[in-house]
Amino acid sequence: MRLCPNCHSKEHSGRLKEGEHIIVRCDNCSLLFLLNIPDEKEIYEDYYKIEFTKEDYNAESKYPYLTDIFEINRQRIQKLNQLQKALKSTGKKILDIGCGSGLFLKTAKDEGYETYGIDISANALRFAKEEFGLNAEAKSTEDIINEEKKFDIITLWHVLEHFLNPVKELISIKDLLSPGGYIFIEVPNFNSAEFRLSGYKWKGGNHPKYHRTFFSNKTLEETLMRSGFGNFQRIQLSYHLPGRNPLFNSAKKLFNAIAMDAFLDYTAYNREHEIII
Ligand SMILES: [Zn+2]
Repeated sequence: MRLCPNCHSKEHSGRLKEGEHIIVRCDNCSLLFLLNIPDEKEIYEDYYKIEFTKEDYNAESKYPYLTDIFEINRQRIQKLNQLQKALKSTGKKILDIGCGSGLFLKTAKDEGYETYGIDISANALRFAKEEFGLNAEAKSTEDIINEEKKFDIITLWHVLEHFLNPVKELISIKDLLSPGGYIFIEVPNFNSAEFRLSGYKWKGGNHPKYHRTFFSNKTLEETLMRSGFGNFQRIQLSYHLPGRNPLFNSAKKLFNAIAMDAFLDYTAYNREHEIII
């Protein structure tokens, strides 16, 4: 029996059975999580299918989804630059956990950040290294802790929901932050208007084959608190993508303001560091 990864409660209510996947809601803290875990090694073998080259990653790509990803990463960097300015931070060392083929790191590197990535997909890492010349390796958080590396910014774009134990992972990640460093997290939002309208058929975030936890702003904040990241902030980052109806973008922005957009974005800071200051 899998316990709730946030509060370790045994009590939950059945919510969905989709094929062999069972998603339940914790009776104690409301976290949605996958009850039965498939074999991790097997499922990630075909996770990254890379059909493009580095030239295809631009604002007018022949692959519309790459145009969207290019634009999303540009807006992420824009937000990161704003944060850096607000925090008066000059630290440029980024660790991207779950960097995949390196698309975000490529954008970050072009913007002057010092980039490093880790992932479990050999196929994706090969692309990141060979196509973009990025520093990216098949290492775990524990490996980097042992190497005593520190980072100013650690990003997790749609990664936290893949972990079996997000609290445990975040506690380790905290050890990798330099003084004054912070994490930037984005996850699918299970309190979003999209999810509420389409239910468990929501393609934006419901992938029980890969996802282990399904966050709302409330349950993600609980996860951050339990990881020792008491000092966090929800970031308003409503992606406006090319070719979308302006009304759709405006509605998204409104939903983003009340934490009901498709994705949730949070930054969290080293609490000990804040207390010392
Ligand atoms: Zn719970």
